[in-house]
Amino acid sequence: MNTIQQLPPHIANQIAAGEVVQRPASAVKELAENAIDAGASRISFVLQDGGRTLISITDNGNGIPSQDVPLAFERHATSKLRTVDDLFALRTMGFRGEALASIAAISHVECLTRTADEPLGTHLFLEGGTATKTEKKPAPMGTYLSIRNLFFNVPARRQFLKSDPVEFRAVLDVFTGLALAHPHIGWSITHNGREEFHLEAENDRSRLLHVLGKKSNDRIVPVQEATDIVQMHGFIFRPEHARKTRGDQHLFVNKRMVRSAYLHRAVVDAFEGLIAEGSHPAYVLFLAIDPARIDVNVHPAKTEIKFDDERAVYAVVRSAVKHALGQYQVAPGLDFEAMTSFHPIPQEAGYLPRPPQITVNPDFNPFLFENQRANAAQKTEAFPLDPLFAHTEVQNEQMDTPWCTGLPAGFIATVQPEGLVVIHTKRAQRVIAFERFLRALEGHGTASQQLLFPVEIELSPALRSSAEEQWAILTAMGFDGTFTADHLLLHGIPVVLSPEDAALALETWLQDPDNKPGAALIGPAWRLAQIAVARSSTSLRPEECVALVTQWQQCHHPWQDVDGATVALQLNTTQLQQQFS
Ligand code: ADP
Ligand code: MG
Repeated sequence: MNTIQQLPPHIANQIAAGEVVQRPASAVKELAENAIDAGASRISFVLQDGGRTLISITDNGNGIPSQDVPLAFERHATSKLRTVDDLFALRTMGFRGEALASIAAISHVECLTRTADEPLGTHLFLEGGTATKTEKKPAPMGTYLSIRNLFFNVPARRQFLKSDPVEFRAVLDVFTGLALAHPHIGWSITHNGREEFHLEAENDRSRLLHVLGKKSNDRIVPVQEATDIVQMHGFIFRPEHARKTRGDQHLFVNKRMVRSAYLHRAVVDAFEGLIAEGSHPAYVLFLAIDPARIDVNVHPAKTEIKFDDERAVYAVVRSAVKHALGQYQVAPGLDFEAMTSFHPIPQEAGYLPRPPQITVNPDFNPFLFENQRANAAQKTEAFPLDPLFAHTEVQNEQMDTPWCTGLPAGFIATVQPEGLVVIHTKRAQRVIAFERFLRALEGHGTASQQLLFPVEIELSPALRSSAEEQWAILTAMGFDGTFTADHLLLHGIPVVLSPEDAALALETWLQDPDNKPGAALIGPAWRLAQIAVARSSTSLRPEECVALVTQWQQCHHPWQDVDGATVALQLNTTQLQQQFS
């Protein structure tokens, strides 16, 4: 008698499902990762009873092509991996082609999905992994999936589930991690009819505040480090806000939530001596590593990672956190909260900052000999001297104008009461433009500059009706104009735009389907800011440097931009003394 038998596929699938889907939270994670991989900018969950009766997800991603829909629920069916080499160059969250098959094997699934180029969506029902019905029907672009009655056919596993509140708490942990790692995605989650989170697309920091609480604002310190092996950014909570229990330790590698006792240790190590024995530092840290240097394929749930040089990563994490802690202890000025008191400039209605008075002595150059100086002075007209060598004296009776000077390669150095600050010129220009657009889009208006020669923009009927519909927003941004039969004649444009860019910005705005009244504002403001500064020069005259620094100081988020890139660095007196010790 033959005692060894090949398991039928439905049993094999149920066994594998146990590894991928242990509880509702694991299904939530897999479904969200699929939506992220599909390029969704909006992901919404609806759950019932901790997820045991219903988990549904709606995304506005690419959708699944009709002919692939049944295949998506087959084991080892994936669109993300073709060869073994791909495993070491992963840019997607999923790759094993197991999640949908595993989930479908143990639940009742309904899937409605449509891609951009299909007129109708595909509607598929499965029970225990077997398709029961499929039809075509109208659907928005993207994917809707509902998972009902998890483990309906595996009573043993169903019994392992904890109470609904406990399961839902695990779901929220996963949701929190996803929302922190993907701030540019709008997320929402509703449980038993109650919306627990509704998050619009935003930047890292404001996402952290929305997810972990507004109070976090004055408790966190930014961390930033870039080495050849790993790039790191994020936030740590100040030592006095360490937790008595574990929780709020969020570590991401290439945006993937990971658990790593080893790297947690690296953070704890950096806090050594600053927190009581037995308390746990809280952090939200993002590591970016070349996918070739890590292996994510350690466990089906993909929350463990192997690094090819674990010790180097440990060292970087530890030293970056230590560095941030050191800066915080000696430089509380790095905190954004403190930054708002950084040279407050009165801003009552109608207030116009007076341009600082500047006298430039362009031929001052300590490196030039007497006779060469005369030459330099003559050249000034045609070739502006390298601003580094232009000695700038600033006189100003009204404001305490910063001393500042342009450095080569697009930086500005400025001295503030807190210390020496080096500003990345282009990024500062972009942050200034961004905040102006954002204010305008929020309805606070921005200045308009009148054009001597109106710019004519040709409008298709579609763009025209869109322009008319959005005219209120556009005028708030500083656009001003009149419509003719098939043109828009622009008389006024936002001051942050050059006339050449104004038409481009307007068209980009009108053509972007996301730029509708009520849409998330950060994305559009950021795109406009990029257009606004794409062509602006970074080699500034001394008075332009001063103007830029003054505007930069007024920004709400002067130190980091929407993408998390560093805009300016600060070196305070203590750090200077350390450097010279
Ligand atoms: P994996 O994500 O590892 O590829 P899954 O079983 O999670 O495997 O998904 C199988 C396939 O189904 C994916 O490769 C993808 O092509 C498709 N898919 C799943 N969910 C979505 C979604 N929300 N939007 C678009 N395609 C999806
Ligand atoms: Mg997947």
